[in-house]
Amino acid sequence: AYNFCAGPATLPESVLQQAREEMLDWRGTGMSVMEMSHRSDEFVEIAENAEQDLRELAGISDDYAVLFMQGGASSQFSAIPLNLLGDKSSADYVNTGIWSKKAIAEAKRFGDVQVVASAEASGFASIPDVADWQTNPDAAYLHYTPNETIGGLEFDFIPETGSVPLVADMSSTMLSRPMDFSRFGLIYAGAQKNIGPSGLVVVIVRKDLLGKARKEAPTMLNYQVIADNGSMYNTPATYSWYLAGLVFKWLKAQGGVEAMGRINERKARKLYDFIDTSDFYANPIEPRFRSWMNVPFTLADDALNGDFLKGADARGLLNLKGHRSVGGMRASIYNAMPEAGVDALIHYMAEFAKERG
Ligand code: PLP
Repeated sequence: AYNFCAGPATLPESVLQQAREEMLDWRGTGMSVMEMSHRSDEFVEIAENAEQDLRELAGISDDYAVLFMQGGASSQFSAIPLNLLGDKSSADYVNTGIWSKKAIAEAKRFGDVQVVASAEASGFASIPDVADWQTNPDAAYLHYTPNETIGGLEFDFIPETGSVPLVADMSSTMLSRPMDFSRFGLIYAGAQKNIGPSGLVVVIVRKDLLGKARKEAPTMLNYQVIADNGSMYNTPATYSWYLAGLVFKWLKAQGGVEAMGRINERKARKLYDFIDTSDFYANPIEPRFRSWMNVPFTLADDALNGDFLKGADARGLLNLKGHRSVGGMRASIYNAMPEAGVDALIHYMAEFAKERG
C-alpha cells in the first residue's frame, strides 16, 4: 500500500524493518531503546548520532543549537514569541494559510503581531510579492510557513529580512530539498512528515537568540534550558528520537537532501503535469508556488469524491482525502513516498477519469 497521509506520514520501509529487528534487543543490550535510560551511554550515543547526522544532512553549523523537543510543532507557536520577543514590541508574520494563521493566533496571546503580508486576496493560491510586504525593520523576528501542508502553497525562495531574524515552520518541507539554513534565526519542524513519529519537534536555533525568554515562559519551552541540558531537561521522547536518527541515516544513504530534492521535484512535477493535462482534475495554486510535498486536487464533480476514494483504497492508495477544512483530495508525497507510489496514483487517476469523467 502507498500511504498519502499528510501526517503522521509514511516512513521508509527499511527504517521500519530495522526498528522491528531492534525492537526487543538493541545491539545485544537485551533492551529495547524504549526501555533505556536517556542518561545511559547507549542512548546518549543514539541521540548524539541523530543530531550529528541531521547537522550533516542540513548543513547546520555550530552557530546553531539543535533541540529535540516535545509537544509537536504547535507547541512552538507559543515557544517562539515567549523566547524571541525579548524587549521588542512586536513580531512580523506572513499569512499563507491555515498553519500560518494558527501560529499568528497563538503569538497574539503573547505580544503585538503584525501580519505584514497575506495570501488571502489570492484565495491562498499565490505568495504576495515581497515588494509589497509591510515589514518592520525593528521587529523581533519574521515568521513564515515555507510550505502550507493543507493548502499546498510553498515558497520557492527564502525571504530576505536583513537583521531581523527569520523564523520558519518547516514541518512539512524540512529535508525535502537543499536549503541554506544559515539564512534563518530559527526553524522548527514537527517530526511526523519527513523526520519520524509525531510528538517530537526539531528546533534549530541560532545561539545568539538564546537566553531571551520571558521570565514567565514555561521551563519546558525555554530554549536556553533545553539547549543547556542537551534536550534532556526532562525525559525526552527517546524512541521517537531514535527513529528520527534511523530516518537521518536512511536519508544520507539516499544521497542526502540534494538527491532527495531531485527525486521530490520529479515526483511533484509528474503529478502536477498530469493534473494540468487532464480536464477532470484541477489544482488551484500558481505553478511557481506549488508544493512539492502536498498536492491538493479536486475532481470535476465533487459527487464523485466518495467513489474516487473507495477505488483508491481498493488499490492500496490510502489517505487521499483532502483536509476537512478544504475538501477535495490531497496527495502528500514526502521523502519516504517512492516514485512508484506517485506512478500508481497517476495511473489510477487516469483510469478513474476515463471511466467516470
Ligand atoms: N505546522 C505545519 C506546517 C503542519 O503541517 C503541522 C501539522 O500538520 C503543524 C504545524 C502542527 O504540527 P503538530 O501536530 O506536530 O503540532
